[in-house]
Amino acid sequence: MRQILNYIDGRLTPSAKGRVLDNVEPATGQVFSTLPNSDADDVNAAVLAAQRAFPAWNNSPPAERSRILLRIADLIDSNLDALALAESTDTGKPLSLAREVDIPRSASNFRFFATAILHTDSAMHETRDLEPDGITPRRAINYTLRSPRGVAGLISPWNLPLYLLSWKIAPALATGNTAVAKPSEMTPLTAFMLSELCVKAGLPAGVLNIVHGTGPGAGQPLVTHPHVPAISFTGGTSTGATLSAAAAPMFKRLSLELGGKNPSIIFDDADIDEALATTLNSSFRNQGQICLCASRVLVHKPIYAKFVERLTAATKALRIGDPFEPATQQGSLNSAAHLGKVAAAVDNARTLGAQVLCGGRKVPKDQLPPRCKEGYFYEPTILAGLDPACVTEQEEIFGPVISVTPFDDEAHALRLANGTRYGLATTLWTSNLSRAHRVAEQLESGIVWINCWMLRDLRTPFGGVKHSGVGREGGQEALRFFTEPKNVCIRL
Ligand code: NDP
Repeated sequence: MRQILNYIDGRLTPSAKGRVLDNVEPATGQVFSTLPNSDADDVNAAVLAAQRAFPAWNNSPPAERSRILLRIADLIDSNLDALALAESTDTGKPLSLAREVDIPRSASNFRFFATAILHTDSAMHETRDLEPDGITPRRAINYTLRSPRGVAGLISPWNLPLYLLSWKIAPALATGNTAVAKPSEMTPLTAFMLSELCVKAGLPAGVLNIVHGTGPGAGQPLVTHPHVPAISFTGGTSTGATLSAAAAPMFKRLSLELGGKNPSIIFDDADIDEALATTLNSSFRNQGQICLCASRVLVHKPIYAKFVERLTAATKALRIGDPFEPATQQGSLNSAAHLGKVAAAVDNARTLGAQVLCGGRKVPKDQLPPRCKEGYFYEPTILAGLDPACVTEQEEIFGPVISVTPFDDEAHALRLANGTRYGLATTLWTSNLSRAHRVAEQLESGIVWINCWMLRDLRTPFGGVKHSGVGREGGQEALRFFTEPKNVCIRL
């Protein structure tokens, strides 16, 4: 059985107390590896190593940091097959998706920030006013220095394990911070493989440390550690609230990427074929376990019946199966607990009066291939007829479950779209340019996609409003989060 290890001070080691957790392959329900069940001792060792490594890493020229991070990106590329297989095994996502999206985007994250630091500029403000006498001209120059914050704490979830972890590690390290990362205990494998690649790439000891374990066991000591001044977290909204409560009294810098209840708004003037194909994808890609998936599909009344009929037919035709099979479009959910949560949410929707247009149950064992009979598979599900105020419409399910709701006009669509506590991403389908701009402006959403979905440009700000998060990742936003500005004023 494969043994996953911590990466502390450049070495791959078990947890200090030697305790381990089982790691399950969700498509089969079988334990296939173990990971360290780390605690505060391991986190302390990792933070100490990161503190020791900080001065040299911070003082190394950006070009040198860039070279090492680019080497890591190249190593991710050259290990594409092994990493994709590991990601698919650990998460239950189709191997094809891991190969085409997760792993290549992880390499892109490193490449983007490795080169971004070679092209930064800094601010200068020239001051021209008068001395206190009110007559004599006074001049000064202000310039802004940006320094890394020190040891960054990076906490990531299980849905896009390497992709989201590298989205934090790359900007943290590129800007001269050292880091301690805590991946989800559900999906530690590619983070472990990344630590092996970092050793190969010649990353100096202690610059990146990866501590495996549970949220309360390893995550909490990292969040509350007095020598970790910045925390970048991606995960659920309630965990984000717990983290904020712990970190705020210590005045830590926090970046929180949290949950969503994303709407997809389809107007009757849209290109319906394209809207349909993308809505199928935005609803069910990665079994709906992407924070950007649209879970509330709002459809203009004149096209509602036909659109929903076609979407339901297309959803029923999605191929569920062994994630390793090239033809599989829907793999398993990430864990038995998550499968239970998704099934309970749909059962609850039924009691609230939902009409189940398709799916609505665990995949029967006799419909699964022999290898996957004990896996955590749920049918892609469409619900209709729900009250927008009910819990199903208000709270994230984070699985292959969407609802469809008709709307009358723009104002109604906006009321529905903005009517939850979340505000991460919205997809808007229309061929009317003025309407597209008008609606986009009024949406309470950190990200708006018009006639597309998941079209990413790493330079753009990424994150949510309301309970979907605090702060932004991506491009300049990430470079700013991981650095502290200092104004220097020189009187001339
Ligand atoms: P969780 O909030 O359960 O966990 C996220 C991470 O936090 C995991 O590494 C977890 O560890 C850790 N953690 C849990 N409790 C604590 C704690 N008290 N202190 C420190 N760390 C802790 O989220 P999930 O892993 O279930 O991920 C799904 C959620 O992530 C969804 O809500 C989804 O919307 C959100 N998400 C948001 C994104 C965004 O960009 N806005 C992107 C992707 C996902 P462990 O797993 O080991 O318990």
